[in-house]
Amino acid sequence: MTASNGERVATPPRAPTPIHKFGTLAVHAGSPHDPVTGAVIEPISLSTTFAQTSVGKPVGAYEYSRSSNPNRHNFEKAVAALEHAKHALAFASGSATTAIILQSLAAGSHVISVSDVYGGTHRYFTQVAKAHGVKVTFTPEIEVDISQHINENTKLVWIETPSNPTLRLVDIRAVVTAAHAHGILVVVDNTFLSPYVQNPLDLGADIVVHSVTKYINGHSDVVMGVAAFNSDELRTRLSFLQNAIGAVPSAFDSWLAHRGLKTLHLRARESTKNATAVSTALEASSNVIAVNYPGLASHPHRSIALKQHRDGMGGGMLSFRIRGGHAAAELFCQHTKIFTLAESLGGIESLVEVPSSMTHAGIPKADREAVGVFDDLVRMSCGIEDSDDLVADVLQALEKAVAGVAPENGANGTNGTNGAVNGTDSA
Ligand SMILES: *Cc1c(COP(=O)(O)O)cnc(C)c1O
Repeated sequence: MTASNGERVATPPRAPTPIHKFGTLAVHAGSPHDPVTGAVIEPISLSTTFAQTSVGKPVGAYEYSRSSNPNRHNFEKAVAALEHAKHALAFASGSATTAIILQSLAAGSHVISVSDVYGGTHRYFTQVAKAHGVKVTFTPEIEVDISQHINENTKLVWIETPSNPTLRLVDIRAVVTAAHAHGILVVVDNTFLSPYVQNPLDLGADIVVHSVTKYINGHSDVVMGVAAFNSDELRTRLSFLQNAIGAVPSAFDSWLAHRGLKTLHLRARESTKNATAVSTALEASSNVIAVNYPGLASHPHRSIALKQHRDGMGGGMLSFRIRGGHAAAELFCQHTKIFTLAESLGGIESLVEVPSSMTHAGIPKADREAVGVFDDLVRMSCGIEDSDDLVADVLQALEKAVAGVAPENGANGTNGTNGAVNGTDSA
């Protein structure tokens, strides 16, 4: 390739072919060298509009940044590669992604979903989709009774696996087989595992969605969402809505999320290693009633994990019931020094929370408990710190919480860190 000054600059990279493995795709898919300067890392393209040489003839592939821009386009190409999809479209948040897919259904459509679907998705289904005439049925055992819920208006099945916060698994292939027999599309929210651990399209799903905010960006500094799929017809419909509704990510957020995605394989492996070590230690503790982690042999759906997840990996998320009820659960989160008490998940840093009073507080107690979200349940997102440190942190917090010891004000801890690792969050 020749620049305007006549010098040869970097040749455009070859598009990655399917023979490349995950890490290679994560680093190179959608990451062309800048054809003019040779920059190895793409510049952030902040321009909202792009010059045209004559009316309707833009210089390059872009016209106006809501419709498409280089950073978003490259990020979408990278996600499509990692999810083995032909197309991907990025949105302003995971929630906007859900909204656009639901918006694409005609009034009068019917959707089937799972009882323990993500809270924001449940809220959208019951309080927003309903207003434009889309009905949603929730079932706790979708593989068992999906056929009983299908009617002539059923257009979509929306599942999430693992579920939040009890980490139950759904057999994607079983749901797809039942839905496709009636011509119904299947959407899988793959946020909790990331494309490194699970690729729903390979199991027959029609659309895979992510809250990019979690593992794909992975650094807790971007709110964003993405949908990936193979159908050209879906691409036409959803990209029309992406542009018409305009819930799109900024060029800067797209660039950051793309940078985060390039290390997804490394982060996913470390967080799985850490969650495995932490859940094994929890399971061996007399201070723990039960552990929910799909990587453990004791998990009721372990056989699905072995079939559906890369190398049977359990991912970075786990939850457990602590002895001593809700009070102990709250104390536990105040005593951890490396795990920060906060909502969200999937970042490099480890987080801990009590779903019954935080992420799932909006669900009535009886409904919560019916799906295993008891007051003594603690949810943990394992980051990429060192396993030994995380395990030690969990064990010391368990001892103090179950003994009912209140954390000291300010200087919390006896190991010399004085709470410096997570600062005021544990106060
Ligand atoms: C966070 C989350 C969402 C919503 O994504 P936002 O980016 O916060 O809008 C959807 N599904 C799951 C499983 C999530 O964890």
